[in-house]
Amino acid sequence: MRLDTVIENIERARLSVSPHHIVKLVAVSKSVGTSAVRSLYEQGQRAFGENRVQDMASKCRALDALPLEWHFIGRLQSNKINALLDLDPFLIHSVDSLDVARAIDERAGRRGVRPRILLQINAACEVTKAGVDPREAADVYAAIAQSCPNLLLDGVMTIGAHTEDRQSVQKSFETTRAIFDRLAPFAPSVCSMGMSGDYDLAIRCGSTMVRIGSALFE
Ligand SMILES: *Cc1c(COP(=O)(O)O)cnc(C)c1O
Repeated sequence: MRLDTVIENIERARLSVSPHHIVKLVAVSKSVGTSAVRSLYEQGQRAFGENRVQDMASKCRALDALPLEWHFIGRLQSNKINALLDLDPFLIHSVDSLDVARAIDERAGRRGVRPRILLQINAACEVTKAGVDPREAADVYAAIAQSCPNLLLDGVMTIGAHTEDRQSVQKSFETTRAIFDRLAPFAPSVCSMGMSGDYDLAIRCGSTMVRIGSALFE
């Protein structure tokens, strides 16, 4: 089974870091329907990731009876924040600026909820990619921690550099992990990095959460 293979690969990579290094798998279901989610659930998977609020809403509702954890991993437009909070997401990985954080904070405050979020870092400084500049990440993180009382800020997320060059991909993961380590005074717990093509490398660079779609579903 694909899930078993992915879990075995994660296991091998994490043990090469340390027996104490724990890695969580988020199954990215953005390109499949509810029956594929249900089938993975029946094999034991609980955490699923979506990159569009609308798709997350429909799957979330269709599978309401199952004890699933929904992770939001896509670009968040401010007019979708309320709809996202309605779904009570387990973790929002893709907060990519202080403005977005403040917008979520403000709406969360009105509802009396405290969503868990990560700061997305554009580790390879790619123009096509969302996320804060790695040189500003620690400052933005501190500013969110200070000015957004309704957010549970719990770490960082990155998408590995978009290139065949493993060295550059590795560098983008190392950059992100180094920022995560510098944030130790804030006690972050999640360093979300690694997708189907690069999760082994991401874990070896210190990822604690991988987001895998195609390797599980295609
Ligand atoms: C689609 C997506 C993934 C999963 O990508 P795969 O290559 O299919 O594993 C992970 N993270 C984000 C942010 C995504 O949009």
